[in-house]
Amino acid sequence: MRKNVKKDNLRSDTLCIHGGNSECENTGAVNIPIYQAVTFRQSEMGKFKFEYGRTGNPTRQALERLSADLEGAAAGFAFASGLSAITTILLMFKSGDKILLSQDIYGGTFRIFNDVFINFNLKYEIVDICNLDFVREKFAKDKNIKAVIAESPTNPLLNIIDIAELAKIAKSYGALTIIDNTFMSPYLQRPLDLGADISVHSATKYLGGHSDVLGGLVMVKDKSLSEKIAFLQNSTGAVLQPFDCFLLMRGIKTLSVRMDRHLQNAQFLAEFLDSIDAVEEVFYCGLKNNKGYELNKKQAKGAGAIISFKISPQYDINKFFKSLNIIAFAESLGGVESLICHPSTMTHAGIPKNIRELIGITDNLIRLSVGIENKEDLKNDILQALEKSKEK
Ligand SMILES: *Cc1c(COP(=O)(O)O)cnc(C)c1O
Repeated sequence: MRKNVKKDNLRSDTLCIHGGNSECENTGAVNIPIYQAVTFRQSEMGKFKFEYGRTGNPTRQALERLSADLEGAAAGFAFASGLSAITTILLMFKSGDKILLSQDIYGGTFRIFNDVFINFNLKYEIVDICNLDFVREKFAKDKNIKAVIAESPTNPLLNIIDIAELAKIAKSYGALTIIDNTFMSPYLQRPLDLGADISVHSATKYLGGHSDVLGGLVMVKDKSLSEKIAFLQNSTGAVLQPFDCFLLMRGIKTLSVRMDRHLQNAQFLAEFLDSIDAVEEVFYCGLKNNKGYELNKKQAKGAGAIISFKISPQYDINKFFKSLNIIAFAESLGGVESLICHPSTMTHAGIPKNIRELIGITDNLIRLSVGIENKEDLKNDILQALEKSKEK
């Protein structure tokens, strides 16, 4: 966008296209070029716009400014993946600190704590973050708790947490609230507006939107925190490459239209799944009977497009997956194409079975990432696969 245009009052669908510096200052090109360069000539000692590609790159800077605009942040940071973004955030903490994790946190995030940072004595505790009295109690009892990491909706059970209340509690104990906003995207939910300190995304999902680029974004509310992240990003170096930054910006331009269609399709399929006997239970906060329905309406612009459901025991779950034609049996989510997965053996396999069962990630649980295909075709695909997988 031309520099003198004010962005304060622009709505998020406009920001997806005109946020950040969306126009090339040097040429007027309406897209930011891919600056495939790692070093930049300095006009004299100490005078430069960019110095070295890990520290900064014009294409990455454009994406980082765009991501800051999308969530009303002081600054945005682009990383090589969602997990490298989360890892970099965790490097702010020190040995002996403890972080609260919501109980059905993304499996990869759990693994960083349980198998990597445990070696550095960064502690975690899993809590039911929907139960805010319990969370308050935890903070009161342990002054080493320095942050809470949560997702809303959670993954894969799609519980809704009260981000504003959670942030209030954490703040009263001097702790940070870090929200993984991947499932919602900035178009549907802005955690920083609700009081969170950091919003993090696996941009691999809705932001990229086409299942063709890995990336992570961090948006930070305040300046001192953003200085810490900038220091860690440069010091540890898991930055997103210029070409991938370009792909992400290209994806973000259509975020709002994709999300609107994702939402329509997901609502339709959730209602359909809720109405058939083959499905025991549907988890989707766009359904009025879901316990997170009202809360989600209050804090987000839509219910997202991930649906989880439990298939009844008369169906052979593996046959069901194999019989789907349009919907791909694959990990990941948030792309234009519908994907289906089996959390207990795929995305959440890193969580020990006893904990999985305890929190409700049972072996008959299925997670569907609803794409933007025709909704009737998706419904028919599910119906025919159910037909083929019914045991006599
Ligand atoms: C995929 C995902 C991640 C990890 O992101 P990568 O880009 O795969 O590293 C983190 N959180 C959530 C909620 C995710 O879905």
